[in-house]
Amino acid sequence: MDRVLSHLTLNTRQFHELTLRMRVVLSQLPLSLTVLLIVVGGFLFHRDLLASQAFLVGVGLQVVLLAVCVLVPWHRLPHASFLVIPLLDFVPIGLMRHGAGTVITGVGLLAVFPVIWLAASGLYPRAALAVGFLASLGIVWAPVFVGGAAVSLESLTQSFLLPFIMLAIGVTIRVMTASMMAQQAVVEEKDRALQVLLEESARRERLLETVVNSVDIGLMAVDEAGRPMLTNRKLEHFRALAGGTGDAPEADLQIFQQDGQSAMPEARRPTRRAAEGQVFSDYLLWWGERPHQRVLSTSSRLMTNQAGSREGSVVTFNDVTELVTALNAKDEFVATVSHELRTPLTAIRGYLELLTGMPDLQPEVASGLEVVSRNSERLHKLVVDLLSTAEGSPEITPVPTDLSELVVQRVANARERNINPQVRFEDSTEPGLVALCDASRIGQVLDNLLSNAVKYSPGGGRVTVRAAEVDGEVECSVTDQGSGMSAEELRGVFSKFFRTSAARNAAIPGVGLGLAISKAIVERHGGTISCRSVEGEGSTFTFRLPLAYAGRNQQLQSQER
Ligand code: ADP
Repeated sequence: MDRVLSHLTLNTRQFHELTLRMRVVLSQLPLSLTVLLIVVGGFLFHRDLLASQAFLVGVGLQVVLLAVCVLVPWHRLPHASFLVIPLLDFVPIGLMRHGAGTVITGVGLLAVFPVIWLAASGLYPRAALAVGFLASLGIVWAPVFVGGAAVSLESLTQSFLLPFIMLAIGVTIRVMTASMMAQQAVVEEKDRALQVLLEESARRERLLETVVNSVDIGLMAVDEAGRPMLTNRKLEHFRALAGGTGDAPEADLQIFQQDGQSAMPEARRPTRRAAEGQVFSDYLLWWGERPHQRVLSTSSRLMTNQAGSREGSVVTFNDVTELVTALNAKDEFVATVSHELRTPLTAIRGYLELLTGMPDLQPEVASGLEVVSRNSERLHKLVVDLLSTAEGSPEITPVPTDLSELVVQRVANARERNINPQVRFEDSTEPGLVALCDASRIGQVLDNLLSNAVKYSPGGGRVTVRAAEVDGEVECSVTDQGSGMSAEELRGVFSKFFRTSAARNAAIPGVGLGLAISKAIVERHGGTISCRSVEGEGSTFTFRLPLAYAGRNQQLQSQER
């Protein structure tokens, strides 16, 4: 019943979803039901009404029209064909009005139904209003002309109000329908746009899923609380490797530290770190137990919303087991070879010392020994560097050390060793700087920076050494006016075996280990080292070490004591 009512009240949303035939029948039904009501009323209270032939023909025509509505396949006919029904409705209405005469008044008002239908159809709006008006006029005038009585102004204007009322109703319905249709058009347009958006979003989702599952790295997106929002198949594989089944939390996975055995503390596991908003790259973790253990390099990046606030992170897991194995093999090889080289080299250096110390050496022998000695020193330095690199973290014994003194000594040594007369040294070190460091190791760093400054300044220039207390640390820098480096080269300058193409092309001796070792030494002290460089203008290498005492004065006093 609700449905019927809602259709009858022209609940357009549902009404438009019906078939055309159903809509035609429902549009005709109010008139047919009202006629039925009049017929029943007439049968009960005004029997003489049923004696009127015109009335009965009108009712019959109404029944025929309803049957036409039901039987005609409207959808196969041109769209506006159904308008013939409201047009024809005026005929039975006219007949019934004429037949009812004065027995039942107001039957002419039934014209309101076809008028509403015509106006609400939205088709040919002006013609529909005109037809409604003229047909209503026809209803009231036809009996005047057909009745045989004299046509007078009085008889013509007797029911003149009806067509105008119908016109007013038609206009009102037309205005309401137009506004409703406009609203409906807007809603339909929005509906279409929404549909397009939904399809687009479904397409993107399929694309994302395909891409995410076809890459060879594990992926996981987590919200701010660390709850997974998206994972891919590769990650499931890694999780299975670490004993993680189903939704097992990260804390239950077998994730180990570098030794492959000590469990990685929960707070240092990648998803947990990502959930805390940390951004990291190349964070190595050992997944699963031996012998199936894999090394994964993990990285995390923040996801932000349009307002720029964090709404989660994406964590990637990349299997680098082969790379790590190869690097370990390389380190082992370097360590073995340098060990093997060290023993014969020690013997060579020992005998060289003996030979160069011998009296009465012929000058050509002495100069030959000098060349051998210089080259064996270079070889020795290389072997020491290689061993030190293979060792990993250098051993240090930090004690309060007068860094100013150390810098002065090392600059003096560099000046002595310097073979390029176009290089000038300038030492602007503040006195009395005491750092907590291993003097021989930091000396090694200074030697390396100073010798690089000379080596990579083939055209000469000033090498300036500065040391001062900065932000509670000792800062020491070596600046040259040499070849400098490009921004690209600068990124790899502290990597093992790194050499700039300029250094290689100019055949400047070196293997690219000095800075990697210097970095390891400074970092072992809890310090930092960095480099600024401009190609063709020069470079500045700066390292910072912790101060031995809270303040310099305090330290000077304690030294004096
Ligand atoms: P080595 O000097 O033995 O090659 P290092 O580790 O000390 O090794 O330096 C690595 C590379 O960095 C050098 O080969 C050189 O290309 C570049 N480099 C280092 N210091 C400087 C500098 N002061 N100016 C320009 N390039 C430098």
